[in-house]
This record gives sequence, C-alpha cells and structure tokens, in this order.
Amino acid sequence: MQVLLARPRGFCAGVTRAIAIVERAIEVFGAPIYVRHEIVHNRTVVQKLRDQGAVFVDEVSEVPDGATLIFSAHGVSKAVQREAQGRSLRIFDATCPLVTKVHREVVRMREAGKTIIMIGHAGHPEVEGTMGQVEDGMILVESPQAAEALADVLNSADLAYVSQTTLSVDDARNVIDVLKERFPAIAEPKKSDVCYATQNRQDAVKKLAREVDLILVIGSVSSSNSNRLREVGEREGAKAYLIDSAEHLESSWFEGVERVGITAGASAPEFLVQGVLDSLKQSFGDIEIQELDGADESVAFPMPKGLWESDLAAARGKSLAEH
Ligand code: SF4
Repeated sequence: MQVLLARPRGFCAGVTRAIAIVERAIEVFGAPIYVRHEIVHNRTVVQKLRDQGAVFVDEVSEVPDGATLIFSAHGVSKAVQREAQGRSLRIFDATCPLVTKVHREVVRMREAGKTIIMIGHAGHPEVEGTMGQVEDGMILVESPQAAEALADVLNSADLAYVSQTTLSVDDARNVIDVLKERFPAIAEPKKSDVCYATQNRQDAVKKLAREVDLILVIGSVSSSNSNRLREVGEREGAKAYLIDSAEHLESSWFEGVERVGITAGASAPEFLVQGVLDSLKQSFGDIEIQELDGADESVAFPMPKGLWESDLAAARGKSLAEH
C-alpha cells in the first residue's frame, strides 16, 4: 500500500500559540488554570492539557475568584470580556491574532455605519465571539441560499461582510458571489478572512484527492477546519473519513484501496498522524510513505505579555524565595 501525506497539515500558528499559552500559564502560575471553552477543538489536546492541570469551563461564572483564566483560540464576545474583567481574575487571551483581525474589522465597519453580514456556521464559538464584538447590526448567513433570501430592503452601500476563518474557501466564495451580485457596493475585508492555514490545508487536500482513493483526515468532529478538509476531499472525488486517532480506523475502509492519503486539521497534533501510520504498518505490513509538495509555512505569533521567559524566571525566583 502507498500512503501519501498532505503538506501542510496539522497545527497552525494560532493553535501552536494557544496551546503554548495554557502550558506556560500552568508552568508560571501552577495548576489549576481555567480555560473558557476547549482551547482548540481537538479531544487529544484538550485531554493532555487537562492532565497537566487545565480546567475547561463553559462560563466565566464557573471560575473561582483569584484564578487564572484563558480565552480559547476562537475568541470571545465583548460581553464575555467585560464579565471576566469585572471579576478578580488573571486573564490571558489565546484568541488567534487572525480572529482578532476579523474582530477589528467588525468594529471598524460598524463605526462606518455598515450593517455586517457574517458568513459562518451558527453556534460556532468563533462566530459567537465575532458577532459579539458589536451590540447590533450583524446578520449571520450560512449558505448561498441564505444570501439569496436576504431582504431586498438592505441598501448595498450600507453593507459589509466578514467570514469565519475556517470556512471552506469554495463555500465562502459561493456566498460572496451571491452577496456581490445582489449588493454590488458591499464593502469587503481588505484581505480574505479565511486564514492562510485553512486555505493551505484545503489546497493540499485537493492535491491529495487527485492521487488517492481514500483520505483519512485526523481531527475532532468539533473542529470546523477538519470537517471542511473531509468535505473538500470528498468533493474532489476521494472517499474521506474524519477520525480522532488510529483507534477509529475501520478495516472495511481499505478494501480495494491501493493509495491512502492522510492529512490533519489545524488543531490535530502530528503524533496522531504518526499513530495512524504505525497502525497502517501493523495492518498492512510494509507501506510506502511519501509526502506531497505543498506550501511552506513560517507564520508564528508571539506569546502575550506576562508569559515570556523573563516572566517565567521571575515567577520561579519568587517561588524559590518563598521557600
Ligand atoms: S485555523 Fe487560522 S484562524 Fe484558526 S487558529 Fe489557526 S491560524 Fe488562527
């Protein structure tokens, strides 16, 4: 059997930073560290951090006074920020800077008097956080049909749109095409809101789908960008399954399959890909593994103030002095 690996796959810069923030906070301030919502949408990552001392909560009200609270990579609404700031909590924001960019766009567009159409999935925490940057004036649109159904009374010149960062690039484009056709003067973000990592992983899975019969996407069912990778792979003609890890592989998927493609969502760690490769080796003996060419990624985001090496050293010095 031949196995082709998509490139790039797995962790993006926003996920790497968010996980590092939780780990560093545990190191500097000690467990428990509270995290509002899953820091990133991956079950293995969340469990690993839980084992290290992270406590995941749905609401700020569940966090005890004096504790350290981290906002997840998906971002939070202004109301959640205000609630947390009104409590005696030490707060770190792990919102991906590319999500923060969309938050700023929303505020700027509202200040310019625009009604904003957000293209995204209802109920996703990123959508709730982005729509919660302003008090009113935002409409969620999930599909081209919903864009068609928008009221004619909306004035094109008073409209703008933004997108969730992890959408299917093609789906987002379909909605935007309808919006531009119906509202030609609609204002656009300066640069696409669908992030570089989403775009690169979808491009890579399209390339993979042309080469293989079956695609395994490593990622959790709650992960928006992982689900999109599975859909994109399937639309390009390959059978595609989304799995958390090697334990979820089913032997029936491989009947008659000669070439398998593997990719991983932006929140899925590389060791899960290696686990799937090990499992395939055990089941099928010698497998030939090849990584396809793809985009190089060098994006990295800095840690927030208070969690740098110097802070860590200061905190260690303090705790040593206290003993
Ligand atoms: S998928 Fe994109 S927006 Fe989301 S955390 Fe990664 S880089 Fe940031």
